[in-house]
Amino acid sequence: MSTFLYSKISFIRFHFLALASILFFLNTSIANAQNEPIQLKYLGTAGWQINDGKISVLIDPYISRVKLGNGPGISPDDNRQTVKRSDYFVSDTVSIDSLVQKTDFILVHHSHFDHLSDVPYIAKKTGAKVIGTETTCNILRAYGIPDEQLYPVKGGEDYQFENFAVKVIPSIHSALNDKHYLDSRTYTEVPEAPLRVSEFIEGGSLMFLARFAKHEVLTMGSMNFVERELVGLKPDILLAGVNRSQLGLYKYNERLLAVTNNPKWIIPTHWDNFRLPYGFSQQDAVEQKLLPFVEDVIKLSPKTKVLIPKHLGTLTID
Ligand SMILES: [Zn+2]
Repeated sequence: MSTFLYSKISFIRFHFLALASILFFLNTSIANAQNEPIQLKYLGTAGWQINDGKISVLIDPYISRVKLGNGPGISPDDNRQTVKRSDYFVSDTVSIDSLVQKTDFILVHHSHFDHLSDVPYIAKKTGAKVIGTETTCNILRAYGIPDEQLYPVKGGEDYQFENFAVKVIPSIHSALNDKHYLDSRTYTEVPEAPLRVSEFIEGGSLMFLARFAKHEVLTMGSMNFVERELVGLKPDILLAGVNRSQLGLYKYNERLLAVTNNPKWIIPTHWDNFRLPYGFSQQDAVEQKLLPFVEDVIKLSPKTKVLIPKHLGTLTID
């Protein structure tokens, strides 16, 4: 079942706007693919699989999409078992196996369950190297991931790997609870596995500038950033955190676009309702979160193209 209606909404809503600036598409290419276009597959939440033919990188792959709690955001049509924050987290390995095969690296922005909880299984299955905070690495050690696979970072590192370089950028978490959010806890020791949902603590937040052969992708895992840490970066692709928690921040869109030098491509991330399985309608998230952001980007940076991916859809940029 696929109930996304981006095209319809967008054409109605943006009829009088610069429609050419918005590209809504699924499994399609921009321009003709020549050598090694970069492919970005949206896994939902803040999750991506990026592949440029030479290297495959996962970002915050959260595929289980558990049915968390009974509040708003849960669909009556979702007949899976409800998961509480006090429950031990169990990955949906069937879904993961259907989506994730080979991957070289996994970049993790922070350690909350909607970013990290599927990484133990994926790291074990693929042998991928993981770049993340001390807390992220200690959680992975708890699940038996060996140190050879782990690159603990705190922000400021700039690492060259084969076919790929990563600048690790200090960042901050979304200002949850209407700005009443601060969680300074970290795991400086290896916790006991398995972890409960609530035990996937933030553990500090990062951004990444992932440099591929032809593209520089600036990634976000939260709806927040430290402006001075982004000065001088010129990514051509920005995975921009878009949800609701950025709305109380001072000129979020304007500052983000300006400090990143108005990237050629902006792809919103972390905008969906991750309590719903793949295939369920994300209409509310599209209307309430994405469309206002797209309208604003059109005004602030008319040359920027905003790309809206569907779940499990692949964007290809030459
Ligand atoms: Zn988080």
